[in-house]
Amino acid sequence: MRRLRSAKIVSTLGPSSDTEMAIRGLFETGVDIFRLNFSHGTHEEHKNRIDIIRKLEGDYNHPVGIIADLQGPKIRVSKFENKKVLLSEGSTFILDSQINLIGNSSRVSISNPEIYSSLNIGTELLLDDGKIKLIVKNKSDNELETVVLVGGYLSSNKGLNIPNAELPMSALTQKDLTDIEFISTMEIDWVALSFVQRPEDILEARELIGNKAGILTKLEKPLAIKHLDEIIKLSDAIMVARGDLGVEAPPEDVPGMQKKIIQSARIEGKPVIVATQMLESMISSPTPTRAEASDVATAVFDGADAVMLSAETAAGDYPVESVAIMNRIIMSVESDDHYKTVQSAKFDRSHFTDADAITVAAKQVAHTIDACAIVTFTKTGSTTLRAARERPDVPILGLTPDLRIARRMLLLWGVHPAQTSYFEDFPDVVESAIKVASQSEFANKGDSLVVTAGVPFGTPGATNVLRIVKVP
Ligand code: PGA
Ligand code: MN
Repeated sequence: MRRLRSAKIVSTLGPSSDTEMAIRGLFETGVDIFRLNFSHGTHEEHKNRIDIIRKLEGDYNHPVGIIADLQGPKIRVSKFENKKVLLSEGSTFILDSQINLIGNSSRVSISNPEIYSSLNIGTELLLDDGKIKLIVKNKSDNELETVVLVGGYLSSNKGLNIPNAELPMSALTQKDLTDIEFISTMEIDWVALSFVQRPEDILEARELIGNKAGILTKLEKPLAIKHLDEIIKLSDAIMVARGDLGVEAPPEDVPGMQKKIIQSARIEGKPVIVATQMLESMISSPTPTRAEASDVATAVFDGADAVMLSAETAAGDYPVESVAIMNRIIMSVESDDHYKTVQSAKFDRSHFTDADAITVAAKQVAHTIDACAIVTFTKTGSTTLRAARERPDVPILGLTPDLRIARRMLLLWGVHPAQTSYFEDFPDVVESAIKVASQSEFANKGDSLVVTAGVPFGTPGATNVLRIVKVP
């Protein structure tokens, strides 16, 4: 199951990809990490998917990552009498805090109390992914009176986005808390937090999740970009969630934000996923548009660790084809000369530690002697994370005795993780490096490997050894 590329593929599971055969097909075609979307489906359905993935992992003896993506505080209108209403431009439309009210063309219930307490007159509101636009004209404690600026049909349960407001809401709803309880009993590698607004949102989640899973922060509120550096520092990984981000911010601003987020995450050495609508037309077509192919390529050129498929694999007609084309686009970009120049872009290394310096050297040594791979040994993942940040020209093997760390490292650019037995001293390490590199087809007899590790083992972040090893 050796992958021949450095950027990773995340695929969302759903009705189009729920059977063991379907999930196996996606994995064999190139999926590294599966995403379970907790906005849809029951715990039983998610458990079923997790069981299939973990079985697959055993069958192939190859780690597979799982992201549990929480719904978060997505605000929604409640139900309408006849399922949908037509809102016409210039008409008055009232948002009402009463919970059991059934909506009509002049009024609908939204039960989140925060919008009544904290929105001001003049605030613009977007409904149904920005298709409908309202402006607040008047307010009371339990009502917002709005005028329709852009009209259209609005149906039950559609989402509401408020681009320019930071609401006093936690990133975790009651549903999320229940989902976290369920997730804690499962073998999940990442918990994705939706609609993070502030650094405190991440701290709150960390309290609950502990080190059961890594925290993957979805950037989908433009206001969160104000706290970008702090958010990245507190998170274990980042997602550029362009779906909601592109509703809350003007679409023309999203490409620039994508580049900025990727660059900032990379400087911190945190993996970053570019998500949403990457191959959207493949939901119903076996081939992508040229613009979509270009979008996937751009994310890889920008330096993303991973690209993601959403409805394409969860609800589309061509899930396997979507993964296959994504795989081909990534491989094509990675063989492009221009890509290498972009990846080796210099960043400020003045604050680098001894461990960082060893890692920079490992990349140079591997390049100079034309090594087959850099082999990193890690207990916590930190040595391997450093190696990935340097974007070396050769694959990085991430060896760890901890299966959970191996699964998490799958998200890192260029890293091929594997679980090894516990290593005590350096000869163990050399033996293990040779064994894994040969068995997983990274090296043949006579090839060189560059090995890095922190000795004595067990001190996180203490990478201090660099060694060239020949495969006998
Ligand atoms: P979602 O998040 O699919 O859960 O909405 C991704 C996005 O908004 O891009
Ligand atoms: Mn979203």
